[in-house]
Amino acid sequence: MRLTVLNSIDDIVAHRLCSGCGACAYISPDRYQMIDTAEHGRRPSRRRAHGDRTSDRDAVRVCPGVGLEHTFDRSDPGLIRDLLQGWGPVLEVWEGHATDESIRFNASSGGATSAIAMACIEQGGMHGVLHIKARSDAPILNETVLSTTREEILQATGSRYAPASPCDGLALIENAPGPCVFIGKPCDVAAAVSAQEVRPALRQRIGVTIAFFCAGTPTTEGTMKLLERLGVEDPSDVCEVRYRGNGWPGRTVVTVRTAEGDETRTLGYEESWGEILTNHKQWRCKVCADHTGEFADIAVGDPWYRDTDGDPGRSLVLVRTERGRQVLRLAMSAGYLTLKRADPSILPASQPNLLRGRGVAWARILTCRLLGVPAPRYRGLPMFRYWWQTLTASEKIRSVAGTLRRILSRRLRVHLPLKSLEPRRHSLATTAAETRRLAA
Ligand SMILES: Cc1cc2nc3c(=O)[nH]c(=O)nc-3n(C[C@H](O)[C@H](O)[C@H](O)COP(=O)(O)OP(=O)(O)OC[C@H]3O[C@@H](n4cnc5c(N)ncnc54)[C@H](O)[C@@H]3O)c2cc1C
Ligand code: SF4
Ligand code: SF4
Repeated sequence: MRLTVLNSIDDIVAHRLCSGCGACAYISPDRYQMIDTAEHGRRPSRRRAHGDRTSDRDAVRVCPGVGLEHTFDRSDPGLIRDLLQGWGPVLEVWEGHATDESIRFNASSGGATSAIAMACIEQGGMHGVLHIKARSDAPILNETVLSTTREEILQATGSRYAPASPCDGLALIENAPGPCVFIGKPCDVAAAVSAQEVRPALRQRIGVTIAFFCAGTPTTEGTMKLLERLGVEDPSDVCEVRYRGNGWPGRTVVTVRTAEGDETRTLGYEESWGEILTNHKQWRCKVCADHTGEFADIAVGDPWYRDTDGDPGRSLVLVRTERGRQVLRLAMSAGYLTLKRADPSILPASQPNLLRGRGVAWARILTCRLLGVPAPRYRGLPMFRYWWQTLTASEKIRSVAGTLRRILSRRLRVHLPLKSLEPRRHSLATTAAETRRLAA
């Protein structure tokens, strides 16, 4: 499911094709570790200089940054034909929420992701859940954890609109005493699926993959801008960041330590995501073709076609594989999920922006290729038709012109250094100044 165009992880990172999934650090832990950078997101950093790039072969093989390829059987009569081209393999569409009202309320959408994960470990004989949560020592950053209890799963609910690398913890699944759930963005899941091809032991241990829909990951600079809007000058004063949840979609809530005690500051979802974070997406997300987890067993997103006013939360759930179907049945029959079968049309009605994003990505990739700039390669994920069908004439022109401008201003040609935020692990105070300098 990969198409290699670049031969080393360093080249992939240098050409901004890295999505930050962390799979290369799992495949080659002696060579790469994931680091946080303000400008790019989480990126693999070489542990020491190596002249020999051949040992990057397996890491590049599993890297979703360079491209994706579908290999599922398109003649499967169970596949929903109307969704096949734009949304990948879908066997069933469901809508609903976690039955437990506190999970539903705390979670990002309707809590289906966390509820399925809980059902797998409490009823399905699975050992744990590999996913991400806020770092306790630096809550604006994320870390990968293997949760094995209901409490731990609950602590990780909610969307983190910040760089996260769940695949850097795949060794925890590989070495686990039983099968585990893997949760991540579409690119994370695609990497975890590819990694099973080079690590058979991992294949034995991945019990189910759950992807959530993803329009793009904002860099840490995005979170810094958000803090700025909330009047937080020193990021080391931040005790907690919740990007959404506690309602649907819920507000962004930041808890800050002040001389008078802890203070809570909030922003509406539209302001937080729509005005700030969305302007800080990493480049790889702008050339992404899979925004809905086409390589996962189950994919989960927001049924935005509905009015969210006063609704405690709802999930749109796609069953993509037979294994996903069995896991969803288990979660429903054990009472973890309250779902109703839905008409497939609610998917495009809920996420028209993701289809348009796929069209725009086609134009960006074409422009890159014409100018000799590396871009991801996709097989089996049609893109051109969505550029042609879903964009207006001026949007079509902008999709090419914007990319040209970016390339010609050399932003995609220069090799930007990776500056780790890690030395400031215990004090992220200077990061705001650094962010302003980078933005200038
Ligand atoms: C960057 C980003 C972009 C998104 N874009 C869209 C979109 O365009 N359309 C849409 O419908 N939905 C989008 N979502 C997904 C949506 O916000 C919900 O996460 C999804 O509907 C699942 O909701 P839930 O209530 O089932 O999840 P929950 O039960 O709250 O569980 C969320 C799970 O996701 C994991 N997680 C959270 N953030 C990350 C992260 N950054 N990387 C890896 N794992 C993470 C957590 O560890 C947890 O296990 C996006 C989420 C993120 C993080
Ligand atoms: S996309 Fe993942 S595998 Fe590829 S370079 Fe980035 S972190 Fe490594
Ligand atoms: S938009 Fe695509 S590449 Fe970017 S984080 Fe989401 S799934 Fe990964």
